Amino acid sequence: MRIYKVGGAVRDRLLGKPVTDIDWVVVGATTEEMLAKGFRPVGADFPVFLHPKSGEEYALARTERKSGRGYGGFTFHASPEVTLEEDLIRRDLTINAMAEDDQQNLTDPYQGQRDLEARLLRHVSPAFAEDPLRVLRVARFAARYATLGFSVAPETLALMRQLSESGELEALTPERSWKEISRALMEDQPQVFIEVLRACGALKVLMPEVDALFGVPQPPAHHPEIDTGAHTLSVLQQSALHKQPLTVRWACLLHDLGKGLTPNEEWPRHVAHEFKGLKLIKAVNERFKAPRDCQELALLVGEYHTHGHRALELKPSTLLELLQSFDVYRRPQRFEEFITACEMDARGRKGLENRSYPQADYLRGAATAARSVAVQPLLEKGFKGPALGEAIKRERLKALKVYKDAASA
Ligand code: ATP
Ligand code: MG
Repeated sequence: MRIYKVGGAVRDRLLGKPVTDIDWVVVGATTEEMLAKGFRPVGADFPVFLHPKSGEEYALARTERKSGRGYGGFTFHASPEVTLEEDLIRRDLTINAMAEDDQQNLTDPYQGQRDLEARLLRHVSPAFAEDPLRVLRVARFAARYATLGFSVAPETLALMRQLSESGELEALTPERSWKEISRALMEDQPQVFIEVLRACGALKVLMPEVDALFGVPQPPAHHPEIDTGAHTLSVLQQSALHKQPLTVRWACLLHDLGKGLTPNEEWPRHVAHEFKGLKLIKAVNERFKAPRDCQELALLVGEYHTHGHRALELKPSTLLELLQSFDVYRRPQRFEEFITACEMDARGRKGLENRSYPQADYLRGAATAARSVAVQPLLEKGFKGPALGEAIKRERLKALKVYKDAASA
């Protein structure tokens, strides 16, 4: 049997990037031989094993043939006769279809190195079209390597467009899509992921609610960039520049969906877009079965981001309602994420990227003031049940009045 490093490990070494996980391919071996060497089998479908010591993934060289819709519709063929070249040709991009032996001898039958140098994301073969997930993967790699100057080869983009128009993207499971989306959002240039999906028509299929924002104007006084789609991409970019977690990035992407519902005659104003957008945010959340914390934050940011921007003008009672909506007493972290999402929204505007955002500290201070109300003295006064709840609220409101007066003094 012969063992090669493949995929990302080879690509990233050639790019001079740190290699985190290594995938291996094994040529000329049978399942029985692998088991005899102590490898542990994983996955019912693929002939993939874990190394007994390193835990890294070793896959038997295989060919694939499409036999139906979606990813379930694949038949795999692994045998000792399958060659390295045959295994590499089923891979998505030429830069991912290189292999290396333990002497660092490169096997590169599909010109991955040439494309690395040309900074091109190019599909290996027409079989690319057999798995629609590759549309998302290419967009994700575009986001990851945009800083290095990579772009999608025109013929690959054309193929991605065909796939998007064929309806095949609809066969993707939420789990597979979310894995790509969440990884793409965590890249340095997540807005490139959305741009590439849009350029090939996939955004219209996957997230029509986001696609609809392009071409929708906003008031130039607040939004020098005018276009709502451009604004959304800038907000997402800001969230990456500020190293925000996935929850915040997801909320940034979805915060303005309601603006896509404004009747044209009301443009460029978007009255009540915060509330109108909630059903769209919910739909996108559920379509991809986003994790609970992502879903929750996106809905809260959607509903309350304008409150965030107006923080300094809010009445104490409105501030209190905001803090209650976030359950800031038990979930302080979630409120902090809301604050940063609002800040990203404020900075994701043309020419305003470095503006200050005093609202952030003001909101933090308000949360601290409300949280500082002690329950014990109220218990000692004999408050119980709903009356206790009301008394706590009254005290918090008082604290917020004091806070607001002190802040504006
Ligand atoms: P990363 O750094 O994100 O892990 P990677 O290239 O290693 O990048 P993996 O998802 O770990 O990506 O996959 C390993 C290799 O398997 C890829 O480089 C590619 O050759 C191949 N591959 C993975 N998924 C697909 C797919 N859906 N279609 C075609 N080839 C794929
Ligand atoms: Mg990998």
